[in-house]
Amino acid sequence: MLVLNETHNPELKSWVASANGTSTEFPIQNLPFAIFRRKGHDEAFRAGVAIGEHIVDLRAAHKAGVFPMELTPILKTLYKPRLNKFMALGKESWSALRLALSRVLREDSDKIVQLETCLIPQAQAEYKLPARIGDYTDFYTSIHHATNVGKLFRPDNPLLPNYQWVPIGYHGRSSSIKVSGHEFHRPVGQLKAPDADHPTLAPCKRLDYELEVGIYIGTENDLGESISIEKAEDHVFGLCLFNDWSARDIQAWEYQPLGPFLSKSFASTVSPWIVTMEALAPYRQQWSRPADHPQPLDYLDSQELRDRGAVNMHLEIYIQTKKMRKDGDAAERIAISNFNQSYWSISQMVTHHSVNGCNLKAGDLFGSGTMSGPSEDSVGALLEATEGGKKPITLKNGETRTFLEDGDTVILKGHCQSDSAPKIGFGEASATVLASKY
Ligand code: CA
Repeated sequence: MLVLNETHNPELKSWVASANGTSTEFPIQNLPFAIFRRKGHDEAFRAGVAIGEHIVDLRAAHKAGVFPMELTPILKTLYKPRLNKFMALGKESWSALRLALSRVLREDSDKIVQLETCLIPQAQAEYKLPARIGDYTDFYTSIHHATNVGKLFRPDNPLLPNYQWVPIGYHGRSSSIKVSGHEFHRPVGQLKAPDADHPTLAPCKRLDYELEVGIYIGTENDLGESISIEKAEDHVFGLCLFNDWSARDIQAWEYQPLGPFLSKSFASTVSPWIVTMEALAPYRQQWSRPADHPQPLDYLDSQELRDRGAVNMHLEIYIQTKKMRKDGDAAERIAISNFNQSYWSISQMVTHHSVNGCNLKAGDLFGSGTMSGPSEDSVGALLEATEGGKKPITLKNGETRTFLEDGDTVILKGHCQSDSAPKIGFGEASATVLASKY
């Protein structure tokens, strides 16, 4: 169970000035992890933790002797250019390091002189994928998204009967997941117009984003051992922002009967920072099911789920077109949503995924599925916003979009905030569409 501890105290301030105040995404209560190095330097990628506008270089900080000796085995896992070994250590280790970091970064720290030399400005950093993602599973946990999309294909019967019983998911492609800041070419695939006799190979015309939350697995389970819902969150390291780009026209032709294939496997984007489940403890909310919906089967239900199973994580989508960039216009926000809209919780996803004995590995990634809310301005994909391409959206500069065009940059942002806890942010997941190579 998640409990609040001294690292969550909203009164804590850091000697790193940029970590204090209301505008930062990375106050001392956040402390998310990434893999980074200094841009333009021929040096190894390694683990860092965000504080204000800086990154604590954990290897350098360890060598500077700022941490208690007993954390050495934990810190040595962080010398690697991937977080997998650290993620596999489990929540006691994650928590011990978080506590140590919180203490040395506080205003009253006696390690300021040693630690100051281990800070690197985020503006000078570049990132890589924080983990070697062995397997990527794409869920479909927003009932609003499932209903909106279902309506386009089956107006009379939008929600299939299994949806309210099973956390629906499929196995995605991990090799094409990239860290924020990348570009990719518009994919090519088989397209078939409804009235055409046969498909043709052509660049996708209905390219879309998907606003998702990424869930990183930490503690592993053995093959054949399922994870109970009471223990499910002990296996989760943390959350990130996740854009699961989709080619809707390729998808429409290929998805039956086994589901999406090449329409999803060409690119996905994660934010560099992973916010730990421990950092998210103050922003948990009750999880509930409307009384007139089927209630979860016993293995997917628990008191902890009902009391604190949801995460109040505010989500935003921004777009910056080629023209906006040329004219010097900032990216425009086109939708807001919240992870607390999820019909299935993180714990239910983990428990269901392993109920058949499937083993989850450290660094595995789950996508929540497109996280749409109930209102028109809270839809997480253009497919929904434009009702399948029928109703273009209009941007402030007069440009319209039904689907994405070459040169468009899509940026996902997210943060948590509550009356009793400060804002903690997730950074951003940004990528740009290039013209097809075809
Ligand atoms: Ca997806």
